[in-house]
Amino acid sequence: MTPIATIADRPLTDPFARQITYLRVSVTDRCDFRCLYCMAEDMTFLPKAEVLSLEELDRLCSAFVRLGVRKLRLTGGEPLVRRNVMSLVRSLSRHLGSGALDELTVTTNGSQLQRHAAELAACGVRRINVSVDTLDPAKFAEITRWGRLPQVLDGLAAAKAAGLQIKINAVALKGVNEDEIDRMVEWCGTEGFDLVLIEVMPMGEIGGEARLDQYLPLSMVRARLMRRWTLDESDHTTGGPARYFTVRETGRRLGFITPLTHNFCESCNRVRLTCTGTLYMCLGQEDAADLRAPLRASSDDRALDAAIRAAIARKPRGHDFVIDRRRQRSAVSRHMSVTGG
Ligand code: SAM
Ligand code: SF4
Repeated sequence: MTPIATIADRPLTDPFARQITYLRVSVTDRCDFRCLYCMAEDMTFLPKAEVLSLEELDRLCSAFVRLGVRKLRLTGGEPLVRRNVMSLVRSLSRHLGSGALDELTVTTNGSQLQRHAAELAACGVRRINVSVDTLDPAKFAEITRWGRLPQVLDGLAAAKAAGLQIKINAVALKGVNEDEIDRMVEWCGTEGFDLVLIEVMPMGEIGGEARLDQYLPLSMVRARLMRRWTLDESDHTTGGPARYFTVRETGRRLGFITPLTHNFCESCNRVRLTCTGTLYMCLGQEDAADLRAPLRASSDDRALDAAIRAAIARKPRGHDFVIDRRRQRSAVSRHMSVTGG
């Protein structure tokens, strides 16, 4: 077995000298919502045999931590609907205890937070992202198809009571929630939440609603917000696509994720793992590496480590999203729920 000191001496670095310190893990492709921009109503989910067990996910995440990943985010699908998911959180929290990991966090739709918030906090989770696109219960039901706003608000209250810091993710949707963004900024200010606005991304066929109809450029949203709020540029960064401001009137952070209009690839520090053990080196590219085969082939981690390193060596320089106006097809055919955003 390679000594740990040797591995730590050679952190995961891609061909463009970007150090890979952040792994996002989709623990399930299933979800209790069917958001219009994310899933078709009649989604077909993966057969259980293809999905990694919680023990396998733990082993895979732990390999990344051993190779230098400092931040893990559990996402999905909806991570908190996976049966027994808290056993994975508990087990991964040992890396926080050992100091190998700086942060363990979750992106959730909030529907199961009331049940899990206190235990997440007890496991050392400090911050979570919760997706809320609208504060209007009828619109919420329309956007999420199966979600109910009061359940999510109860979940948020439980998370707040447990001491978790909360960042709200809201996808900006033309003609749907664009008239509500002021209210969301105000609500986040009152509640003590940060807010990140996301431009709709062309991922996966979603049926019905054409993505071109949903696309709302955040440059427009920002210009409108600046009529009412003072947005001070902030140097806060997560190494990802969000550009942050501080809302002077509320003191809270406001981020904009604009993958279609702004290139954020130079500072990319992340890769994405699906619940079947497929590693995507870039959100906007199809190239992927199968880590399930080396994981299942042996209980020894050498082949797995080598496969991870070989995948990182293929990380592309950047993505190439376009909402193709002629073909109206998705630039990337997988759904966001495969990699969890
Ligand atoms: N179910 C969890 C949730 O909704 O937060 C985690 C998974 S979800 C795929 C992660 C994030 O991706 C959510 O904030 C969601 O709004 C966003 N998302 C999904 N589909 C998207 C799309 N086509 N464009 C932009 N954001 C999208
Ligand atoms: Fe589910 Fe999240 Fe996709 Fe909505 S955005 S359907 S909550 S995975």
